[in-house]
Amino acid sequence: MMEHVASLYQKYLECRKVSTDSRAEQDNTLFFALDGPNFKGSQFAQAALDKGARYAVVQDPTITGPNIIQVENTLNTLQALALHHRLLLRIPVLGITGSNGKTTTKELINAVLSKKFNVLCTKGNLNNHIGVPLTLLGIQPEHELAIIEMGANHPGDIAELCAYALPTHGLITNIGKAHLEGFGNLEGVARTKSELYLHLDKANGTVFVNTSNEHLMRMVRRLEKKVTYYQPGNDYTGELLQAAPQVMYRAADGKEVHTHLMGSYNFENMMAAACIGQYFGVPHSDINSAIAGYVPTNNRSQVVQKDTNTILLDAYNANPSSMALSVANFAQMAGEPKVVILGDMLELGQESEAEHRLLGKQLDQLPFAQVFLCGKEMRYAAEVNPGFRYFAEKSALEQWLTDHPVRNSHLLIKGSRGIGLETLVALL
Ligand code: ATP
Ligand code: MG
Repeated sequence: MMEHVASLYQKYLECRKVSTDSRAEQDNTLFFALDGPNFKGSQFAQAALDKGARYAVVQDPTITGPNIIQVENTLNTLQALALHHRLLLRIPVLGITGSNGKTTTKELINAVLSKKFNVLCTKGNLNNHIGVPLTLLGIQPEHELAIIEMGANHPGDIAELCAYALPTHGLITNIGKAHLEGFGNLEGVARTKSELYLHLDKANGTVFVNTSNEHLMRMVRRLEKKVTYYQPGNDYTGELLQAAPQVMYRAADGKEVHTHLMGSYNFENMMAAACIGQYFGVPHSDINSAIAGYVPTNNRSQVVQKDTNTILLDAYNANPSSMALSVANFAQMAGEPKVVILGDMLELGQESEAEHRLLGKQLDQLPFAQVFLCGKEMRYAAEVNPGFRYFAEKSALEQWLTDHPVRNSHLLIKGSRGIGLETLVALL
């Protein structure tokens, strides 16, 4: 028998916890057996029940049992259930998208708003068509506000996520060259991100916009939504005093804020968080202390101090916009000699060769003591200057660094997640 969403929602209310991974702890959860690219989720349904799940939702009609719930499509049902839950909530839901800095900005906003509210915030990077409904179903009666990260690889992705998240407030961090494989070009990226603005509540939807970003300013010009601006001379204005090694800025209340994040791009993320904090009535002193107290994790913009080397570790992801900014920022920092170790920027499709070559040209203009390039795509950057050291495989670079230790240096390590450059830290 197919389960109707309304009756499934009653079962959700008995559990209030949803899981899609049978390997995780199952404590009275509502388990959704989702199919993956290489497996059928239903094969894990019984394991989840054995581990303590209360119900298992499956789409395989051959699987039956006391706490098995049959549906036509488990993913569609998960999303429909999330929408059902969302429609019953009366709290602000802030959607965040953008090419770069979503997770960092989300964490900063969470730190700021948590000073005043009980906030539910996307965990880690759960920002897709599965992560967003899971996050929404995590909203409990005691939550006063939700922050939802929304990722996109293709046109229409953000519209789809908005269809069940129903955001009341929206932030696009920026528009840059990320996931060009799915979008084709920058215009495609911009159009997809703008879906967030378009899908906000007509009467009360509010967007937060960085006035120094031309793309975004153009987007909101004809938008019939409430707009709160940050930077410069607007609803919230801060002044960057120092970008490296860590950002220091003067906040809107005139106080100096010393942070743990590096790079002028992170200053933008902080201004977004401060602006949103001010909008929701968080006192300035709390906004400042929340941002000052935020310590990054997951290899994002971390400063790692080794015996003789200082490493800026940014090995969480990389695309042309964030790479160019990171490299330029590093070049301006104090400390010599400077060594850069860069890995492939993945998922660039047809643009990959040109973008890597462009990076090579940028590196060629900068006075780094040594440039190490790693990965298949980096070959194009390496071709720009024979002085760059190129390694198609990470293992070869590891061997080189073992045989030729780098000491007493300042290093920038950045590359796409798939290249996994963070393992180099142990060798430096
Ligand atoms: P993902 O698409 O993987 O979810 P994300 O948008 O959540 O990425 P973060 O994880 O916050 O982004 O940051 C990843 C990297 O992007 C950082 O390490 C940094 O190099 C770069 N970055 C962060 N903020 C900005 C920004 N405002 N502008 C440009 N680049 C940024
Ligand atoms: Mg993210």
